[in-house]
Amino acid sequence: MGMSALWMSLLLGVNLAFFAWTAQRRLRQVFIAKGDARFTWRNGELLARVKDTLVYALGQRRMTKYTVAGLAHILIFAGFLVLLLRSLLLWGRGYDIGFDFFGVLAAGTLLGDGYNLAKDLFACLVVLGASVFVWLRVVVRSPRMTLGVEGLVILGIIITMMLADFLYDGAGQVLHARALHQAWAFHASEPVGSLFAFGLKGVEDTGVLKVLWHAGFWWHAAFVLIFLNILPYSKHFHIITAFPNVFTRDRSPYGRLPKIDDLEGRVEREEALGIGKLEDLSWQHAMDLYTCTECGRCSDHCPAYLTDKKLSPKHLTLALRDHLYDTEAALLHGKTPESDERGPLRTHPEPPQDAYFRNDTPQALVPNIIDPDVIWACTSCRACEEQCPVLISYVDKIVGMRRDQVLMHNTFPPELAKPFQGMEVNGNPWNLPQVDRDGWAKGLSVPRLADRPDADVIYWVGCAASYDDRAQRVARSVVELLGAAGVNYAILGKQECCTGDSARRAGNEYLFQMLAEQNVETLNGLGAQEKTIITACPHCFNTLANEYGDFGGNYKVVNHTDFLFELVREGKLTPVHRVEERITYHDSCYLGRYNNVYDSPRDILKSIPGVTLGEVEKANREQGLCCGAGGAQMWMEEQNNNRVNRKRTLQILQTEPETVASACPFCMTMLTDGIKDAERDQNVKQLDVAEVLARAVLGPVHQEAASAS
Ligand code: SF4
Ligand code: SF4
Repeated sequence: MGMSALWMSLLLGVNLAFFAWTAQRRLRQVFIAKGDARFTWRNGELLARVKDTLVYALGQRRMTKYTVAGLAHILIFAGFLVLLLRSLLLWGRGYDIGFDFFGVLAAGTLLGDGYNLAKDLFACLVVLGASVFVWLRVVVRSPRMTLGVEGLVILGIIITMMLADFLYDGAGQVLHARALHQAWAFHASEPVGSLFAFGLKGVEDTGVLKVLWHAGFWWHAAFVLIFLNILPYSKHFHIITAFPNVFTRDRSPYGRLPKIDDLEGRVEREEALGIGKLEDLSWQHAMDLYTCTECGRCSDHCPAYLTDKKLSPKHLTLALRDHLYDTEAALLHGKTPESDERGPLRTHPEPPQDAYFRNDTPQALVPNIIDPDVIWACTSCRACEEQCPVLISYVDKIVGMRRDQVLMHNTFPPELAKPFQGMEVNGNPWNLPQVDRDGWAKGLSVPRLADRPDADVIYWVGCAASYDDRAQRVARSVVELLGAAGVNYAILGKQECCTGDSARRAGNEYLFQMLAEQNVETLNGLGAQEKTIITACPHCFNTLANEYGDFGGNYKVVNHTDFLFELVREGKLTPVHRVEERITYHDSCYLGRYNNVYDSPRDILKSIPGVTLGEVEKANREQGLCCGAGGAQMWMEEQNNNRVNRKRTLQILQTEPETVASACPFCMTMLTDGIKDAERDQNVKQLDVAEVLARAVLGPVHQEAASAS
């Protein structure tokens, strides 16, 4: 005989049926998104995907960065896994009061008592973890979090479910002892239940004890099912969706944006290019939307959000998610909503005003659901993606929306017209003559590959070092170091052309593909597959290393800091001249977060006698703030006066450096401007790591060059 087979059947039947109904709706909504699949299965990936899922979804690797909230979250999650079995046990006891999984968890056995003990301990940890979140929400009120009542209701359910379980155990222990006409005794395998029993053993009325016992039982048994049904309607849906979302994540290199295949054919067939409406998202993007926990860590690290732009990655996800939910009737059932007025996104704290909207009718995402300024403020820095605990992507979605604007609507910030034209006509975004591309090398004995076809190394100079005065000085340092180390290298000279990084990040996939095909043809024609390509521009590096493979260009590409440090390690370059300076290194997003190059620039600086290396506290390496130039921002007007480069420069200047070192020509421009803006250019230099190394290896002439900066 159980607690009540009828009530348990009703409880399970109604709740599971409702959950199944919701789940099929959510599943059908995922497949509204019909865009090119981001998820691709490569042979031999199964183990890696399982590992990712264990590490990020089950093990919550990213949460370990956050001591208090991270630990609390891990406690709740681990407790839930342990208590899942307890819920199944209680449902079974609805039918058979002594249900113990057919003796597997019988009281008095090692397994049964061991589980009960673990269950008690984990339930305590869940109460502790959930209480921390109540404190964070009610007392700390961190602005990054969504502080609605929903979160508190869920926490209330979690805490009371655990307490109800203890009540059930405690009342059960006292009732059991009384039924046997024995005195109640402490149960070592249910220590917390026994504490409750200790408090209840003085209750004389057995009827009251039975009510408490039933209340504890039904509260736990019912609320776990109610909790299950709340999940798909709340941010807690991630408890379920984080697993498939992590398992199916895009495992291609971070720096590889998806290629639009058969671009011209798609134009001719008038097919959608980019992400213009919900249907253009991929099903994996839709899974992302379900999985957002609304923790706000993405926005907390976004350079655009931190400088008061309209872009908040968290609200971007919520706007897309709400639009997916709001348009269910129209997209799945063809119903026309009574009103299609757009309203503000309803979350707390308020998203940037006039930036994100709701509407029951399917809309062009930009500008009807998302203000254009949102997508054009992104620097593609990946700080958001690096922080997101459930591995939600942003850059591919934002570039997808830019593609729609540029390719389908010919709409983009007007400042981009000149660089687009420059890349198309002259092969560089400065729109300077292609014939001047190797002018920087005038007077230097820099070999061209056409004259030295047996060169082992191709130095890919890039547009910045070809045309920008300041970056040209970096190129000179690089070739002098290569020469000093006896590297058999050559440059392409006038045969080199813009890699198209800015065009691609700005959504102009058509222009990017044109440049990529042209460069791949040149490089393959010169036998680059058999050589090493080095470059001092992280944007060129990322594109050549990660993106040209989609166009038949598979090369060994090495960033200049990795290459130069290897020369130092091999003893081919020896930093003999002391550089007595405090130097703070700024991480380029496209070297660091995109390609995991954090150590070589620092190792070079550490190898130089006299250098004291500084770090920006809590904003270095993976957590470094962008300079503000990536994602084609280099060519756009910033949307307000609260400039990203100023914010980053001030962070760096707090370390009191004499030199700010970088390894990217775009970072160099932004930081040089930032230093001037802070009126510190008289006493703070901005140098590429290669320039600092050249001073240490080659001596005073580089000291002068550095001073001139
Ligand atoms: S990539 Fe950078 S700028 Fe863009 S949304 Fe993410 S954090 Fe913000
Ligand atoms: S996208 Fe990720 S980091 Fe941003 S709010 Fe959602 S879960 Fe948090």
